[in-house]
Amino acid sequence: MSYVVTPPAIVSVPVVGRAERFPVHRIYCVGRNYVEHAQEMGFTGREPPFFFLKPASAAVVVNAGETGALAYPALTQNFHHEIELVVAIGTGGQNIKAADAFKHIYGYGVGLDMTRRDLQGEMKKQGRPWDIGKAFEQSAPIGPITPAAQAGDVTHADIWLQVNGKDRQRSNVAKLIWNIGEIIEHLSAAWDLQPGDLIYSGTPEGVAAVVRGDVLEGGVTGLETLRVRVV
Ligand code: MN
Repeated sequence: MSYVVTPPAIVSVPVVGRAERFPVHRIYCVGRNYVEHAQEMGFTGREPPFFFLKPASAAVVVNAGETGALAYPALTQNFHHEIELVVAIGTGGQNIKAADAFKHIYGYGVGLDMTRRDLQGEMKKQGRPWDIGKAFEQSAPIGPITPAAQAGDVTHADIWLQVNGKDRQRSNVAKLIWNIGEIIEHLSAAWDLQPGDLIYSGTPEGVAAVVRGDVLEGGVTGLETLRVRVV
């Protein structure tokens, strides 16, 4: 096969304990999925889950024990961190029931849903798509994926983010409004989930801005820590 332009490389994430890597197909994100984060964004009450996408090329893949470089993006004065548990789909499907969802999961990782909050806010106000606030280059840092069997009980794991060694976000995955099974049920009703899809499951409260030079270190108990420096 030959192409008229150079085809994009396959984006892939290292897997703990394996030489083979996890190839990224799509990146789904769940909006407002922890009560206290929904409140800090000005929302109350349980709403149906909603989703947005980032391109696979937005991933900033960081190896275990390394500090990734995260470029401060253009056009924003309010670049926010959102630490999230990432679910890696191993087996695709449509209309997957929550009770069957875990059979479709390959593993889990720690990710950051980086957000140009000022641009997202402007788009919200105007009722326009969030892409410019959410789906830009380097907006989806991710650390190594741990296979599900080795990850422990991520559904009750602590989730946290420190900036320059100080706590910014600290919660527990058990506080998800829509849990992992329910997320997969809703997603797979709307899209044909495929192997290689990543799902950023939502962020707890404490989102705030970072600036160049800040070091972000985040984790979910049982998974590899993610560390990046804003440059
Ligand atoms: Mn998010």
